Amino acid sequence: MAPRDSPAAKMPRPGSRAGRRAPPIEYWTLALRCPVCHAELNAEVPDSGPPHARETDLRPLFASLDPLPWFIHACPSCRYTAYREGYEGRRMDWDEVESQVPLKVGDRPPPGRFLPDELELDDLRRWLRRGDLVRGVTEGREPFGAERYVLGGRCYEFLRDSDGLGIADYYLRASWCARAGGDPELERACQREAVNRLQGPQDAGRVPESEKVRVLYLIAELSRRSGAFGQAVNAFSQLESMVDVDDAEGALFAHLAKRQLSLAVVKSDINAVIAEDEIGLEREDE
Ligand SMILES: [Zn+2]
Repeated sequence: MAPRDSPAAKMPRPGSRAGRRAPPIEYWTLALRCPVCHAELNAEVPDSGPPHARETDLRPLFASLDPLPWFIHACPSCRYTAYREGYEGRRMDWDEVESQVPLKVGDRPPPGRFLPDELELDDLRRWLRRGDLVRGVTEGREPFGAERYVLGGRCYEFLRDSDGLGIADYYLRASWCARAGGDPELERACQREAVNRLQGPQDAGRVPESEKVRVLYLIAELSRRSGAFGQAVNAFSQLESMVDVDDAEGALFAHLAKRQLSLAVVKSDINAVIAEDEIGLEREDE
């Protein structure tokens, strides 16, 4: 599991690529107030610069410290967990923090970035008092990394239970953080959870047109990564027949689907990096 939010945990780590020198890392400080219990928290977000590549489940890779665990905040008192927009407080420098992870082809901004209204907050307070939020995840201790995204997903699901695609996004990010933290069991559990949340809208035909290819790709790739190879082969095959290769995103996912299908056929759950030029070439087509 990744280190906790201690000063020592914030020391720069070696670069993720051999021979690449880690740049010094600066932190943006956010002064936040929990809208549920009014506890104050200071959160620090590392400025790791833009990602240099991504993995086949769309996880961004950074040359230095992976900032994803710091993008979501858990209240130290009531454990309400949300992106910074879900908290009250000083908004200083937020635009600069926001711009550190530019979206590339295939990326989506994280969902659930809103402050709950008073009625929702009343409901949240009652729900949090029951202890359902942290059950089986981080009872009695500070959550970090994947655990924060799981708690964030549960909070978001409580507030927006009809948004399966949005809920899936939290579990996708949780699986990225679990991988970064060296917890393959949690990674797979989060991948399966994400597939389940994507599958509902997919089966019901409720995926918006603009999301169809990406959702099917994620179902396929997360199924492959979590060992559901038959489901992966079906979804990759289906995807190949529906993409518009004249569209930059369609071309990227068609290219990836072809490669990942051959891995799913031989029952390989290997992770791989998508080279920067594979993404870069597609972006020029936009
Ligand atoms: Zn709180």
